[in-house]
Amino acid sequence: MLMSDSRTPLTATNISNVSPPFDQSIQEELLKRGLVRLSIAADGMDPLLDKRLKELRLALRNDAAPQLLAELMPDLERAVLAADAARQERLEKVTSGLHALIRQLQKQPAPEDISKALQQMAKRLDQPIEYASSVPELLSEVVSLQASTLGSELTGTRPAGLWSRLFGNAAVTPISTSSALSAADQTAPSPDDELAPAFSDPAGVLAGEEQNYSQVAAHIETILLNLLGELQVLDSQQTRCEQLRERVTKGLNWYELAAAMDELAALVMGAQQSRQADFERYLQQLNSRLAQFQGNIEQAHESYNESREAGRALEGSIREQVEELHVDVRQATELESLKANVEAQLNALLSNVERSRQLRDDQETLVAGQLDTMVQRIQVMEVEAQTFRNHLEEQRQRAMIDSLTGMANRAGLQKRMEEEFERWQRYGGELLMAVLDVDHFKSINDRFGHLAGDKVLRLIAQQLSRRLRKTDFIGRFGGEEFVLLMPGTTVEQAASALEALRQGIEESPFHFKTERVTITISVGYTAFKRDDTLDEVFGRADRAMYQAKEQGRNRIVSAD
Ligand code: GH3
Ligand code: MG
Ligand code: MG
Repeated sequence: MLMSDSRTPLTATNISNVSPPFDQSIQEELLKRGLVRLSIAADGMDPLLDKRLKELRLALRNDAAPQLLAELMPDLERAVLAADAARQERLEKVTSGLHALIRQLQKQPAPEDISKALQQMAKRLDQPIEYASSVPELLSEVVSLQASTLGSELTGTRPAGLWSRLFGNAAVTPISTSSALSAADQTAPSPDDELAPAFSDPAGVLAGEEQNYSQVAAHIETILLNLLGELQVLDSQQTRCEQLRERVTKGLNWYELAAAMDELAALVMGAQQSRQADFERYLQQLNSRLAQFQGNIEQAHESYNESREAGRALEGSIREQVEELHVDVRQATELESLKANVEAQLNALLSNVERSRQLRDDQETLVAGQLDTMVQRIQVMEVEAQTFRNHLEEQRQRAMIDSLTGMANRAGLQKRMEEEFERWQRYGGELLMAVLDVDHFKSINDRFGHLAGDKVLRLIAQQLSRRLRKTDFIGRFGGEEFVLLMPGTTVEQAASALEALRQGIEESPFHFKTERVTITISVGYTAFKRDDTLDEVFGRADRAMYQAKEQGRNRIVSAD
């Protein structure tokens, strides 16, 4: 409004250009002009003030007498004071409104740097805003803080919500607060270049969850690739699987991740359904083959009965012919006719015997053929059943192996613990359980990234496995925690074996680029005792492990 006035602006230069000479009327004229301009500048602040200013401008433009101007002054003064008070009140309201908003945002879980920014903003807002002109800038700062804090909520129904759906808030918080968002971490060294997380958007343009995602993108991609590697897809899905692998290998942004997850889900469901259908088809086939088999046996039985009948009939007719021969011989009066008769009877007999043999041969061939078919069918069925059995066993084994370390996972461990426990209950002897936990593992992740953390876990698993006896069994209980079973080991033997294990890990060289990092473990162990349950033994070893942590870590503690 002020700048839209096209008249010459009143400036110090204008004034100094005018004097000297400097007579009274010029000064008066300038003051009037100044008053008019200022009154225009103040226009729009307050309706009452606007009215008084308008009166003043009118009086000035009409060259009103000083007396008249003086009469306007008290009203004008009051209007100015009232307008200023109202302005002050408005600014206070804006300040306290923004303050309330910041307080609400502070209740949301947020990364450290955002929490800090919120705190600073709250402090700024402890003082009322002085100039209305600073409000827009302040507002836009608050809006961007709100966006950073609320992240996903502001992005509405975009696929960004997938992060929470997949990993839940609990998973987001540690990543974002511990390492992910601090600038130091983004430049932290990583063990291998290919292990360095792919920060596709370091400028921080992505909001909330996308940003969280970019911190762990490489980790997620590795997991996806592992999953794809483990997935047993159908031949018909091979191409789709390859395409997905390529997409993941090239790197995914936040939105591509959602699509990739959908595709992976579709592949898994497809493979699962088709395998299910396969199995059902196989069972149906088996059913119909068994029915056929049953039919074959009945048929063979019938053929056998028929051939017995035929044999009996043949036998009867042979007997009849022999009797006829007897009769002929007894009643014969003439040698020549007897000879002819006997010859004819013998021929008939021979052809009957031949027929009998033929009949038996035919039957035998038929039954043998039927038996052959049955045997072949049974063989096919056996092979198929074995394939399915192998397949099921393979899947069962696979479900008990930890894909990161290649050692038994929790399910595998549970199975082995139950077996060893049963054996110990039946045959007695010594059995020992140890719980091992890597010390300060979170800081490895925080300093070098999750992929480096994974690599360390693999190396530790290798070291542990390498240093155990053949009869010992170790599995990954979860995270950075392992459980060790030592049959035939006394507490004293275990103490020295576990101490050697602890020392071995401490002395193992772990390198991140050029930095050497010492990794240590805390161990709790206990012997199985009469009337113990598995849970009790585990509880004791676990508590001893926590004691080792409390006593300063990098040590072994016996529960006994
Ligand atoms: P403490 O000495 O008390 O055991 O400290 P800690 O940091 O080892 O223990 P805490 O339980 O606080 O943290 C364990 C960390 O291990 C947290 C989790 O992020 C990390 N972790 C668990 N599983 C994995 C995994 O498979 N890979 C990686 N990289 N990190 C994992
Ligand atoms: Mg630990
Ligand atoms: Mg732990």
